[in-house]
Amino acid sequence: MSYSSLPKVELHLHLEGAAPPAFIASLAREKSIDIDRIFDGQGGYVRGDFDWFLKAYDAACTVLQRPEDFRRLMLAVLEQSAEQGVVYTEFFLSPDFCGGGDLSAWRDYLDAMVAASDEAERSFGIASRGIVTCLRHLGPEAAKPVARCAAETAGRFVTGFGLAGAEMMHRPGDFAWAYDAAREAGLGLTAHAGEWGGPDMVRETVDHLGCTRIGHGINAVSDHALCDHLIEKGVTLEVCPVSNLVLGAVKDWKSHPIEELRARGLRVTVSTDDPPWFGTSMTHEYEMLERYFGWEEERLRQSNRIAAEAAFCDEDTRAQILQKLEAA
Ligand SMILES: [Zn+2]
Repeated sequence: MSYSSLPKVELHLHLEGAAPPAFIASLAREKSIDIDRIFDGQGGYVRGDFDWFLKAYDAACTVLQRPEDFRRLMLAVLEQSAEQGVVYTEFFLSPDFCGGGDLSAWRDYLDAMVAASDEAERSFGIASRGIVTCLRHLGPEAAKPVARCAAETAGRFVTGFGLAGAEMMHRPGDFAWAYDAAREAGLGLTAHAGEWGGPDMVRETVDHLGCTRIGHGINAVSDHALCDHLIEKGVTLEVCPVSNLVLGAVKDWKSHPIEELRARGLRVTVSTDDPPWFGTSMTHEYEMLERYFGWEEERLRQSNRIAAEAAFCDEDTRAQILQKLEAA
C-alpha cells in the first residue's frame, strides 16, 4: 500500500540537508553562484560516495548566506514534509552555518526560521521545532559558543541540543561542557552515535552526555548488554535506514538492524536524515520497511507514537501530535 497519507512524526532531519534541489538551484541562479556540478540534470543531486556527499553538501550550502535564505529554505522543506503526511518535525540547526556561532547573528537567523515555522504551521498544518547542533569534527571548544547560542535562545522553538558531523573524531565525553550548558537551559539532548562508531560510542553518549535520544544508534545491536541499558533508560533511536544504505553504514537492506532492534524492545523511530541526497522520503522509508521487514500499518503507527513521546516539545504540542496520529 502507499503510506503517503499516514500521519508521521520525523525527529532526525538536517535543515540544509533537506533542501530541495530545485530550491538550491534557483538560489544559486539568483546569486550567480556556479554549482551546476552538484545537479544531475533530472531534478536531483548527483549521488556519490561519502566524500562526494560531504563536498557537494558544502557546495549546496554556499548559496545559503542570509537569514532570509534560511526562512525560504525552512518553508520549502516544511511544505515538502507536509506533502509526505508529516505532522511534526524537528530540525537540526547549525549556528556554525548561521553567523558562525555569534549570538546576535544567530538570533537574526533564528527569528527568520521561527517565522517560517509559524507560517508553515498556519499554511500546511505541520508543527516544527529546532535542535541546535554542534559539529563534532570542529571539536569541543567550537561546541561551546554553539551551546551558548542554544541556551540563550531556548524556548518555544529551540527545544533541543545535538551533535552531528564526523563521528570518529573526538569522544562523546569531550562535549560534556556543551551538554551540561544545554541541559541546564532545559533542552532535550540527542547526539549522532553508533552510525559509524561501535556500541562504545552509544554507551558513552548516553552515560557521559545524558542523551535521551541517539541519532542512528544502529551499531548498538551487536552489544546485548548495551541494548538492555538503552531499554532501561528509555532511550529512543532516530533510525534513518536509507541514509545508512546509501552512505554504506550497512551493506544491504537485509542486514539493516532496525527490525532486530525493535524486536529486542528498543524504542525505534524512522527519519530521513538528508532526504534529497539519498533519494528518499518518509513514504519511501515506510514502503521499504514494509517490503523488507513486513512492517505494516500498525507497526508504522507504533513507531510514530514512540517518536511523538520522544519529541522535544511541550506537553500541549505532544498531545496535539498524538491526537493527529490517532485521528487519521
Ligand atoms: Zn543525521
